[in-house]
Amino acid sequence: MSVLVLGGAGYIGSHAVHQLIDQQTKVIVIDNLQTGHQDAIHPQAVFYEGDIKDITFMRHVFRNESIDAVFHFAANSLVGESVEKPLEYFDNNVYGTQVLLQVMKEFDLKKIVFSSSAATYGEPEDVPITEDMSTNPSSPYGETKLMMEKIMKWCDIAYGIRYVALRYFNVAGARRSGIIGEDHQPETHLVPIILQAALGQRDHITIFGDNYDTADGTCIRDYIHVEDLIEAHILALDHLNKGGRSETFNLGSNQGFSVKEMIEAAHTVTGKEISVKTGERRAGDPSILIASSKKATALLGWKPTRTSIETIIQDAWNWHANHPNGYLKDVTPK
Ligand code: UDP
Repeated sequence: MSVLVLGGAGYIGSHAVHQLIDQQTKVIVIDNLQTGHQDAIHPQAVFYEGDIKDITFMRHVFRNESIDAVFHFAANSLVGESVEKPLEYFDNNVYGTQVLLQVMKEFDLKKIVFSSSAATYGEPEDVPITEDMSTNPSSPYGETKLMMEKIMKWCDIAYGIRYVALRYFNVAGARRSGIIGEDHQPETHLVPIILQAALGQRDHITIFGDNYDTADGTCIRDYIHVEDLIEAHILALDHLNKGGRSETFNLGSNQGFSVKEMIEAAHTVTGKEISVKTGERRAGDPSILIASSKKATALLGWKPTRTSIETIIQDAWNWHANHPNGYLKDVTPK
């Protein structure tokens, strides 16, 4: 079995590569290193540096390698940034996926597991969110993920390319061994930002709005451990390998934590003081997102095991405390 991982140098993609290699799968990685890190790539993976929008490059990789299935993580993924740069998001995420599917069609590759997002729902009609609820993205990012799902649907009907779309809720944590983890430049995600404040690398964390219609006024999210998330991708691939049809699944923990609760939990786990300020709401943020992952449990047999918020923060903390500068090796001035 050989899997092509697009975006295999990024936070979530690199965890997928490690977990696939753990189970003896051959892995080929494509990454343009725009946000990914060379050092996050597993040394046993075959690595091609390039952009998925470059069809000549993509054909070259598909010609060179024998590939059974694709895991597609290569996308821009920041809600706030997407509101400011929608065209960049449509280009990288939607057009990039079109090129990928074109090449998959040409090379007769029929199986793909890909990152979708809870951002496809927008402000949800109810929580917990089930896959049949309406999708009204409140950001260009969410819109690109919904468009990617729709393109996949039509490519299945026309060309028989079967897919599993996985709608991630808030992914956090790091590989238990602590050798890879989350490192975005600049960092925008809540858990790493809280931990950078705990490490003294930031003097405070700003809460984006405390006037939401929630118990403590701050946004509620459903946090899922990156290793549990990748386990679902591996089960999704089994589903496709067994001839299963195209499906969409939510991946979350079925529990919500507010921004304030996350800061409190991080204080408990790290024992460090975390200074907090309150700022404006961030554009595109829904107030509450909590998944129902019953469908993934029922159809894929998915059973997340690292669901406690303390475990998720502890694993992230192991990575951040041991790699305070992420993948940057030498930060001492010469
Ligand atoms: N958030 C915050 N301050 C920060 C970063 C994030 O209050 O410095 C909030 C953000 O408004 C959202 C939640 O934390 O409600 C999770 O944001 P993140 O960017 O981690 O993930 P997203 O929900 O955008 O996928």
